[in-house]
Amino acid sequence: MSNRLMFEQASPLLTRLEKAGYDAYYVGGAVRDFLLDRPIGDVDIATSALPEEVKQVFSKTVDVGIEHGTVLVIWQGSGYEITTFRTESDYKDFRRPEKVSFVRSLEEDLKRRDFTINAMAMDRHGKIIDPFNGKSALKMKQIKTVGPAEERFSEDALRMMRAARFASQLGFHLHHETKESLSRCSHLLEHIAVERKLTEMDKLLAGKETAAGIRVLLEGKLTAFLPGLAGKDSQLENLLSYDLMPLTVRQKWLFLLVLFVPDNVHDWLKAWRMPARRIKYLTGTYEWFLRSPKETWSDFSLYETGLERAADIEEVSALIAGRPSHAEALHRRHEELPIKDRKELAVTGKELKEWKNEQGGPWMKSFLEMIERAVVEKKVENSKEKIKEWLKACNLL
Ligand code: ATP
Ligand code: MG
Repeated sequence: MSNRLMFEQASPLLTRLEKAGYDAYYVGGAVRDFLLDRPIGDVDIATSALPEEVKQVFSKTVDVGIEHGTVLVIWQGSGYEITTFRTESDYKDFRRPEKVSFVRSLEEDLKRRDFTINAMAMDRHGKIIDPFNGKSALKMKQIKTVGPAEERFSEDALRMMRAARFASQLGFHLHHETKESLSRCSHLLEHIAVERKLTEMDKLLAGKETAAGIRVLLEGKLTAFLPGLAGKDSQLENLLSYDLMPLTVRQKWLFLLVLFVPDNVHDWLKAWRMPARRIKYLTGTYEWFLRSPKETWSDFSLYETGLERAADIEEVSALIAGRPSHAEALHRRHEELPIKDRKELAVTGKELKEWKNEQGGPWMKSFLEMIERAVVEKKVENSKEKIKEWLKACNLL
């Protein structure tokens, strides 16, 4: 959906709030991305109405974060977060504030936001409210804190990682004061929950200018306070010598593992508090990476590894070897495999027992493995009769 259409669809929400006597604006990332002509994510709305007042204006609402002033409004099938103008105070331990106070002024609300490019608002007619010169920062491709950087990073240390991820997402550079404050404040990242760091790291790795983001982590000495990255600056520098553009986020994490060679891959990923499924996938893929052939894949190794993993390994291997990736060819070859999974095999232990007239036992496993390989390698067709014939021809029945 086009950006303009997204705002148009949300526009009646602003009208309704205004009709009820409140101020309401689009704010944050949506305004920034609209001005940059990038696809916008969510349309966030800020209002002078208190959460209870927002709930009176709309019939379908969900309390998603009412203590922070956010109400989710369901409007024509879509959800919109409407947040009451607020200031933040009592930042404890350099992380999110303990207390928020609702205010009636937009400017106060914009002031608590992290960077000038994120501190603009837009009314429903498209007029931009920009008290901190966010527009000119956009023009200069600059990431600059609203107010003194050291103060803002001390309030919430995660903002330092957000600076790095915006550098990667937008390809922007940091304003010098913002940049210089990083190394002085980086130790405050110790107080930040790893889950929040992971979210920002994933967004950084997803950005089109990943190298720029990583450079911010390095130059700002943030790496010392990120799981598994402390003491790895030279490996990260090495990472920057590659063109990371073709890699997906998952492949970039795999590449980090390949460059870092952690003693225990599982623990390294666990330190990032990744969900168990992600850890399992990456640990397994890394193990396959270490033992897989790097340029040629037999049908059977492609089958065993699975397409997703094989493609991830192939992209990273190709990047390291400085050769073109054969991932597309792997896709085609995987399509053509007679079976994709052992479950698709036309025979099971039941048939084998009947055919051999024998009790079940360990022999069945090796038989099935042999049949599986022969089917994948197209030595025998995947049907009961053909497999039976083939076993006979091999003198196994
Ligand atoms: P994205 O496109 O990735 O969602 P975004 O700018 O919308 O980018 P969000 O994390 O969704 O980022 O935050 C929405 C807005 O809230 C930001 O634009 C910013 O104004 C404000 N914000 C978010 N996190 C912080 C923070 N830690 N400190 C201050 N302001 C913040
Ligand atoms: Mg957002």
